[in-house]
Amino acid sequence: MKLKNAFAVFASFFAIGLASAQDLGPQIRKLEDGVYVYVGKNFNSNCGIVLTQDGVVLIDSGHNPTDSRAVLAAVRKLTPLPVRFLIDTEPHPDHTTGHFVFSPPATIVAAEGAGDSMRSRERGDPERIQKLAATSPEMRAALEGYRFVTPQIEYHQKMTLKVGERTFELIYLKGVHSESDTAVWLPKERVLFSAAGIVVGQINNLRPIVSIPDILAAARLMKSLNPLHVVPGHGTPGTVKIFEDSEKYYALLLERVGRLAKEGKSLDQIKKEVRMPEYENWAAQERFPTNVEAAYRAVKGG
Ligand SMILES: [Zn+2]
Repeated sequence: MKLKNAFAVFASFFAIGLASAQDLGPQIRKLEDGVYVYVGKNFNSNCGIVLTQDGVVLIDSGHNPTDSRAVLAAVRKLTPLPVRFLIDTEPHPDHTTGHFVFSPPATIVAAEGAGDSMRSRERGDPERIQKLAATSPEMRAALEGYRFVTPQIEYHQKMTLKVGERTFELIYLKGVHSESDTAVWLPKERVLFSAAGIVVGQINNLRPIVSIPDILAAARLMKSLNPLHVVPGHGTPGTVKIFEDSEKYYALLLERVGRLAKEGKSLDQIKKEVRMPEYENWAAQERFPTNVEAAYRAVKGG
């Protein structure tokens, strides 16, 4: 009996991989066998870690290179296999600066337009890496060997990636956050990486290219997949409730902005008047004016 127990413990040790979730540090959360998330602190971006028989697939590369190094250290504890692919949910620097940590050998995959978006930002702020290195000695060390790395593969609308025993469905989301947003769906595991068009517990930054009807359409599409786990680009992973909370917020915002617009108020007047006290505990309130602008565009049919 004793021997049998000892064998069971020994066998399960190997079945779960080389490390248990708590050995991986407080930021790593296990969702399903071989599917982990490195959860960014204080709304920093999340990074998915998916193990397969043929190597590792990452979803985003961490908020800062210090996070990318921590992700790589966790991967090294989980498997001796290489990182084969890195899928970008968006091209912004808080998801992509750490590409150089993984590629090569990883092949980076993103929606069409990601490389152009990254290049134009890089040109707009040529001192960015120097400034980032100056923020702390740890950041400087993590940036050692930095190179600007853009995706090697850009897909159009949809792509299916099969790696080992797993399937990754990449779905382009139009108009939700950046020029090139991707949701990553693992149909067998029912895990959805939902990108940054919908965030958790904070007001999102709605740029002029973003449309609230497109965000709501993306929420409906992602909910229809019936995921068990939803991992947003930023914020605590959860369930489809993440989409429902955003749907409620935008419905209320559209209603209130719509009413004021009907009364003939200008955008400037509406910005001064409209209030959402139900959401005053959400973080990043300074982004609220961009939400009013987007709601105004939507109710005016623009
Ligand atoms: Zn972003």
